[in-house]
Amino acid sequence: VASDRFDVAVVGASIAGCTTATLFARAGARVALIERSPDEGAWKRACTHMIQSSANSVLDRLGVGDALERAGGVRTSVEMWTDLGWIADPGGRAAGQNLCVRRETLDPLLRRTAMETPGVETLLGTRATGLLSDGVAASGVRIEGADGKARDIPARLVVAADGRDSTVAGLAQAPAEESANERFAYFAYYRELPLATGTNSMTWLDGADVAYAFPVDGGLTLLAAFPVKRRLAEFKRDRAAALEATFDTLPRAPRPVEGERVSDVIGRLDLSNLTRPAARAGLAFVGDAALASDPAVGVGCGWALQSAEWLVDETAAALLGDGADGLDAALKRYRSRHHRELAPHQSLIAQGSKGRLPSRTERMVIAAAVKDPAVADRFHAYATRNIGPREFLGPRTMLRAAWVDATRRQRA
Ligand SMILES: Cc1cc2nc3c(=O)[nH]c(=O)nc-3n(C[C@H](O)[C@H](O)[C@H](O)COP(=O)(O)OP(=O)(O)OC[C@H]3O[C@@H](n4cnc5c(N)ncnc54)[C@H](O)[C@@H]3O)c2cc1C
Repeated sequence: VASDRFDVAVVGASIAGCTTATLFARAGARVALIERSPDEGAWKRACTHMIQSSANSVLDRLGVGDALERAGGVRTSVEMWTDLGWIADPGGRAAGQNLCVRRETLDPLLRRTAMETPGVETLLGTRATGLLSDGVAASGVRIEGADGKARDIPARLVVAADGRDSTVAGLAQAPAEESANERFAYFAYYRELPLATGTNSMTWLDGADVAYAFPVDGGLTLLAAFPVKRRLAEFKRDRAAALEATFDTLPRAPRPVEGERVSDVIGRLDLSNLTRPAARAGLAFVGDAALASDPAVGVGCGWALQSAEWLVDETAAALLGDGADGLDAALKRYRSRHHRELAPHQSLIAQGSKGRLPSRTERMVIAAAVKDPAVADRFHAYATRNIGPREFLGPRTMLRAAWVDATRRQRA
């Protein structure tokens, strides 16, 4: 077993891992980036890739925001239909618009950015199979290449960026708290299928079922259905027919028969919400390895970018020796920040995954958002993860919603 010493060993070279590696290396760290896929151009198939605008500043910091637009990525707001009407997006938020760009465009660009950053040593075609420990803290990873040869990568900090089924979490015996999802997902890409809203995306909340249509790079349109499990047999019988039938009855929806499907219909049945504490001694979790959310709300890509940034910002100084306190304290700060920023969102998202209909209060807010641009703006600020649930459902929104409810009802 050969040996080599790194500041950071990052396991997984997808969104969270590449962002972590790039930002740590730019701060001066020596980083090993370990990825089981041998292919530099590999990309994640099961993803509908709406990057919420809360992550725009991270894309800009990485220097890839403009390049993704040049590659065809679409800047987009979301118009949402409910049985109470459409919630338009008044726009104008400081963070800008969401970005919709296929993973086959996004992932290779992020990986190239990381690989070209001085200080990053990329080990493609190697998977993490063991976690090294000094008895107190994680102290590196054991990796294995296609030839089956093992190699130890000692590092001061190990970062698990290996997705929702994190191998590193298993090795560290760090189980996730899990909450079931009553919905499943199927999606496909279409050519020649423009949206009635132009470059604005469309989402339909049809009872407990969710569907959406996004404009994406390559001039394509993505159609996705997230129905509750009642429709599973229908999708298993004929996934393409069931996906397309979903859009037959939705207001202003594109009619799939008018376009041409240019991909397989991709399905995922297990979409449970997972969350685990984002750090322990010598080990941090970023992206889905720390928290995987119901994809019907499209938050995982943005939070993979943001959690990587939080980790680097909280720990780089301590890791590289010029921090006021040690790495343990820095990791605790990252863990608290991750919890503070995302736990309130995750709790509300997990409730929404239960396939229940909106409560009376939620319906009042939706009805107000349909009628009133100020409430609609707060709704979208929340949906794009620029404000948290406490702020969204706080007194400002609730008083305004009640006022809209009372005055518009009187007028009606
Ligand atoms: C159906 C579906 C639709 C979605 N739609 C959206 C959406 O619209 N918007 C959104 O924001 N999010 C969406 N998501 C979520 C999004 O795909 C994830 O949140 C995101 O990919 C997480 O990025 P990550 O870098 O943490 O992990 P991943 O992208 O899962 O990457 C993990 C990486 O680790 C590597 N790896 C794993 N194990 C090892 C190992 N042992 N050794 C070495 N490497 C390893 C893998 O090969 C992979 O490259 C969707 C998810 C699903 C399932």
